[in-house]
Amino acid sequence: MDPAEKLLIERRARLAAERLLEQKQRELFAANQKLGIHARSLFDQIVEQRQVVEIVRSEAEALKGQNTRFLSDLERAHTAAVMAERRLWDSFETISDGFAVFDPSFTLVAANPAYLAVFAGLEAVKPGVSFPTILRLGLDKGVFDIGAANQDDWCARMLSRWLDDPIAPEVIRLANGQYLKLMDRRARDGDLVSLALNITETMVREAALKEAQAWAESANRAKSAFLANMSHEIRTPMNGVVAMAELLCDTLLSEEQQLYAETIRTSGEALLVIINDVLDYSRIEAEKLTLHPAPFDLERCIYEVVMLLQPSARDKDVSLIIDFDLFLPTRYIGDPGRIRQVLINLIGNAVKFTARGHVLIRVVGFEAEDGAQQLHVTVEDTGIGIPEKYLNHIFGEFNQVEDQSNRKFEGTGLGLAITQQLINLMGGKIWVESEYGAGSCFGFRLNLPVAEDKSDLNAGPVAFHRALIVDDQLINRTILERQLATLGMTVLLSRSGAEAMALLGSDKAIDLVLTDQQLPDTNGMALAGRMRALGFAGPILLLSANRSQVRSGDGVTEILPKPILRSELRRKLQVLSRPLQAIVPDEPAAPEDRRVMRVLAAEDNRTNQLVFRKMVKDLDIDLSFANNGREAVELYQSFKPDMIFMDISMPEMDGCEATRCIRKLEVEKSWRRVPIVALTAHAMDGDADGILAAGLDHYLTKPLRKSAISERIVSLCPRDARPPRLNCDDDVLAEAV
Ligand code: ADP
Repeated sequence: MDPAEKLLIERRARLAAERLLEQKQRELFAANQKLGIHARSLFDQIVEQRQVVEIVRSEAEALKGQNTRFLSDLERAHTAAVMAERRLWDSFETISDGFAVFDPSFTLVAANPAYLAVFAGLEAVKPGVSFPTILRLGLDKGVFDIGAANQDDWCARMLSRWLDDPIAPEVIRLANGQYLKLMDRRARDGDLVSLALNITETMVREAALKEAQAWAESANRAKSAFLANMSHEIRTPMNGVVAMAELLCDTLLSEEQQLYAETIRTSGEALLVIINDVLDYSRIEAEKLTLHPAPFDLERCIYEVVMLLQPSARDKDVSLIIDFDLFLPTRYIGDPGRIRQVLINLIGNAVKFTARGHVLIRVVGFEAEDGAQQLHVTVEDTGIGIPEKYLNHIFGEFNQVEDQSNRKFEGTGLGLAITQQLINLMGGKIWVESEYGAGSCFGFRLNLPVAEDKSDLNAGPVAFHRALIVDDQLINRTILERQLATLGMTVLLSRSGAEAMALLGSDKAIDLVLTDQQLPDTNGMALAGRMRALGFAGPILLLSANRSQVRSGDGVTEILPKPILRSELRRKLQVLSRPLQAIVPDEPAAPEDRRVMRVLAAEDNRTNQLVFRKMVKDLDIDLSFANNGREAVELYQSFKPDMIFMDISMPEMDGCEATRCIRKLEVEKSWRRVPIVALTAHAMDGDADGILAAGLDHYLTKPLRKSAISERIVSLCPRDARPPRLNCDDDVLAEAV
């Protein structure tokens, strides 16, 4: 081969090699590029992985820390739990009361030493033993004292307790005289936790207390019996002394003798009041005082108390005024005896501590609930008043205001304490307001059911249209004005005789005059005379707190008591209206043609018989005495009395028993029911109940008062008998309940 050819071949080979190289270089470059990308991505992955590893490592570190903390927390909690359990058991072991835990199948899980000590010596009583077995073992070894109970019954009862939820506490007695109070409770998981409290000391104390209470009660009963006896023993002769002194005062005596007799009477009465106060207080204290509710007329009750206290008020120029809300019912159901006692205390105090002015008894009320009224009774006086610092103090027993103005007044200091207790007993409230030197106002609030109204307010019309009232006291004028206005009258008011005469002269339509006796410029009687001289022909009614001091006639149509009951005034006006309506009164035969009234008095005490006889000697009645209940029953049949006064405590047969016999005879023989009035010592509690239950109609308390006896006889005189002669000097002292 020539060199050129050879060179060409070589050149071609070199070119081919160069092209191959070029291609390989391109391929290498592409492969390098790929490798670079891959290497970068690998690098990125490595960086990422490293980060993840870093995070995982730090988390692992954190977890490791946490784990260590948890471990130490757990250890601490465990230590605390162990300590708490140890403390709990230390406590349970220290307490003297028994503590045990039973599982739901009543197997003992754990018990403290006090619990196990009950079964001391009984090895078998330990955790793992069942409750029924414990009971059995206890019974067998004489641990429990179950008295006369049957062992099986007792066990069954103790077990069945645990089935209740909640489980009632149970007191068991141990043979060693100790008492355990079992307080058992079911836990949430069904376990039973039993606590056995040692209440021996409490039980012993309770037994001692019970014994002391029984002793005190028996002592109290003995005291009550003693008081009841004492009341009879002291009061009977005291009543004789007082009544005899009253009779003695009625005889011809020198001034000195009169003073002595009067002193005996008032001292005796004061002593009786004190005895009654002390007795009442003792009874309230011993909670022996119970109320005896009955229908009664509150307005009348207040009126009677006012009449009773009128003489003392009159002596001092204190007027007693009643303002009973016109629209308020008057009849209620309550204990009239006790309400009367409250009123006597409050009105009596008001009169006692007032030298001049007035005592105003005001009654208002509103419907409290169905058929009951909330009554507010206030007793306001213009007396010495009470210093503020004593206002709360005076309701305490034996508490009195201790200052100069008060010292001259007598009293036990028990009245208000009794009054407050009585009001509390009746569910009411009492209060006082007072201004020292100006007067006091005592008030009480009571809720009383309204009783059926028996009044005969509609017995007839009132024929007067225009009334003239003459009274210098504004309260009196206002009260009377309201009363007459409700009767449909037009009312004219005047404060003096001169004013009244002027009105009467100018107003010819006036057809009724009501005048007070005491007027600033004249008196009622003289005024009536002048009115008649002026030609006034209508009724002139004179109101007087002292009826024995005024006479009718001299132009006065009628003398009325002051204050006067609303119903009484209305009745009087109705009666006075009758001639105007030409109504003929239906009078029975002339009094002189009628037979004499027969009165039987059963009284064992000779002094009292003598007193009684003297008191009724002017009455023109036929009086017979029975010396005991048995004689009273016999005389009732032979003497046929129109009424009977019955002493309650008499030998052989007492007054209640005699009354029961008489009531039985009346039914058997169909005789008319004879009114029987009990004569008792102070209204000791229980007496009234027994008396009324025995069939007696009323009762009068001793010392007997001439006026009360006469009033009762007159009011019970039958139509076919001559009305007994009543001395008009006697005040109305209605003692009956
Ligand atoms: P007593 O009147 O028997 O002393 P009370 O318990 O009835 O006992 O009254 C206690 C005291 O309250 C009285 O002694 C008197 O100081 C005072 N007191 C009661 N009522 C009034 C009154 N209306 N005015 C002034 N003081 C009164």
